[in-house]
Parts: sequence; C-alpha cells; structure tokens
Amino acid sequence: MSATCDVCGTAPAGVYIEVTDPEGVRDEHRSRWSCANAEHRARAEATVGHGGRAFTVTDVDSGTGSGIQTEPVTLAEKFEAYDSDHPEVYATLRALAFEWKRRTGRHRLGIAALYERARWELSLQTGESPSLDHNFRAFYARKLMKAEPSLDGMFELRRSVADEWAAAA
Ligand SMILES: [Zn+2]
Repeated sequence: MSATCDVCGTAPAGVYIEVTDPEGVRDEHRSRWSCANAEHRARAEATVGHGGRAFTVTDVDSGTGSGIQTEPVTLAEKFEAYDSDHPEVYATLRALAFEWKRRTGRHRLGIAALYERARWELSLQTGESPSLDHNFRAFYARKLMKAEPSLDGMFELRRSVADEWAAAA
C-alpha cells in the first residue's frame, strides 16, 4: 500500500508528519501524510496540532524510512493542543460547573460526572460525540479551579501528571 497525501490524495506522499504518544509510540491517527506541495504540507501539519514534526520520508510504502524520527509528545502537550483547538470544551465544563453550584447550592462535584455531562451537552450541540480523552479530566479539573477562584476546591484531586503541568502553568 502506497501512502497518499492526506490533502489531495496524490501518491506517493513524500512527507510524513509524525506524532508520537508519551511512550514514544507512533500515533497513526494523528499523524499525517503530505505530498511535496507546500500548501498541502502546511494544512497537514496544522491538523496534527502541537507536537507534530515533518520529515521527508525515503521509504514511503512502509513509512519507516530513515527519515523518520520520533518526537515524544507528553500528555500535558496533548492536553494543551486539544484545549486550544476545542475552547468549547472548557467553556462547557465551566458553564456546567457554575450551573451545578447555582442549582444545588453545593460546592463539591466529581470531575468524571461533570465531564460526562459536558460530553452529553456537546453531543447535543454538534450532533456528534466529541473526542474527549478521559486522560484530560485531571487537567480540566485543575484548570477550572485555578482559573475560576469560586470553583477552587470543587474537585477532589488525586496525584496526577497534571500536577506538574498545573504548577508550571
Ligand atoms: Zn497533496
């Protein structure tokens, strides 16, 4: 099977924009192929978000040519890329958290429940199920409590890689 440009379908595509997960494993779903056309390459690169790096690939058929290198993408980087691409997710979580406080008079809330409620809400709005990674919950919980003083202490936090991220942010 020969790789084709994800923008125009031309084969063989010569540029591979690779994204790897935190373990350094190639993330096929987020990685993209492009032909030599600069505009197609820019579009393919734009769709992988942060952490993607383009390489000219020598062995296009296998995608494993010597031109391929890996660039680990941390969970925090994935979250930041997702968050900046999908501001509606944070906005929905925030609105629902405030609604919870207002309507129940309670302050504590489980991030898992809020997250699933946001998934429901976003599905109704867009007609499709949003790709909410459950690994992002810890980041959203911290972001909400940090950005919204009146939500401070709302979520119970377990130790997470998001701690380092929140401390550095
Ligand atoms: Zn193309």
